Amino acid sequence: MALFVHKYGGTSVGKIQRIKNVAENIIKARQRGDDLVVVVSAMSGETNRLVALAHELQEQPDPRELDVLLSTGEQVTIALLCMALHQRGCPACSYTGGQVKIITDRAHTKARIVNIDTDRIRGDLSEGKVVVVAGFQGITEDGHITTLGRGGSDTTAVALAAALKADECLIYTDVDGVYTTDPRVEPKARRLDRITFEEMLEMASLGSKVLQIRSVEFAGKYNVPLRVLSSFVEGPGTLISYEEESVEQPLISGIAFNRDEAKLTIMGVPDRPGIASRILGPIAGANIEVDMIVQNVGEDGTTDFTFTVHRNEYKKALEILRSVHTELQAREIAGDDTIVKVSLVGVGMRSHAGIAAKMFEALAKEAINIQMISTSEIKISVVLDEKYLELAVRCLHKAFDLEKPRDAVT
Ligand code: ASP
Ligand code: MG
Repeated sequence: MALFVHKYGGTSVGKIQRIKNVAENIIKARQRGDDLVVVVSAMSGETNRLVALAHELQEQPDPRELDVLLSTGEQVTIALLCMALHQRGCPACSYTGGQVKIITDRAHTKARIVNIDTDRIRGDLSEGKVVVVAGFQGITEDGHITTLGRGGSDTTAVALAAALKADECLIYTDVDGVYTTDPRVEPKARRLDRITFEEMLEMASLGSKVLQIRSVEFAGKYNVPLRVLSSFVEGPGTLISYEEESVEQPLISGIAFNRDEAKLTIMGVPDRPGIASRILGPIAGANIEVDMIVQNVGEDGTTDFTFTVHRNEYKKALEILRSVHTELQAREIAGDDTIVKVSLVGVGMRSHAGIAAKMFEALAKEAINIQMISTSEIKISVVLDEKYLELAVRCLHKAFDLEKPRDAVT
């Protein structure tokens, strides 16, 4: 008998009628003879509502108390879903994270799962019950409630699937899969039949918000096949798994982009050892994450140094540079917080030359200026003026034939 973990996101359980539809979907899956463990999020908007309540009282509430508060959202939906299942005559039992012993570390509001005790779940499954578990939460060894960070129900589902050695983890959400790019930017974007963990990680960290990044890391680490699919329309969704040797990989799987970028340049610094660390040391010291870094070839003993940060950190980073400006003997400091990053992602890149050239040619044809470039084994990213974002995504989508369906590879 197969075992599946289903996860239903906030919009899928946002109203009683939707909870009834979820119950229907679960019953259908059970009729195929599968064992089911179901993870749910809080009703859509609920976690935000709770966060706002807390902030009405305190600007920085105690993280422990915040977790006690936030974990209630999911406790509501597990109970309601079980009632909907009971009403349809389906045996089901709900559990909070603590009750099924999802043990986490003590990092309140961003805890990590360290262990899951599956005895209770297995017991219920063997009695023919559907087990419904609250997402997003766990408990510390000494009994304090924790939460796993926003979007953490995905991670609960994957962790349970890994612990139970489930056949697949199905993430039901409000989109019907992972797309070649954001359909709001390129209406010709297509749903992918499958994508690898590595590619999905790149897509997710670049702003494609279908899954919590941590859940994808977890799924890759424990090799849990993940499927993203819609709880509103039927369809196969997108399977996220390891690359299959036998299947020829497409060159490019998708185009990801990030609007929240800013860049800083420090010009005319002495070209000698230690400069990079003296620029980036204070930036790291202020807990600012640096993404791309470019240093030019030196000329006349000086060089220019450019890096990108999240737009929210731009002002802070600029202040830091100004404060080290004289010490570094820099000529000038410049910044721009109207830039974006656009990336091609695809494991097929590994075995093919010329992808970057083709990318730059497509951008050149549209007279889009590239400000920075960075590459990894499965990704090429460019920094552009934000006004070119839509144009760049669309011209690349076309240049790499992403609108055309690939041969089915499932
Ligand atoms: N309810 C939590 C949130 O909104 C967890 C989740 O939905 O995955 O972040
Ligand atoms: Mg979510």
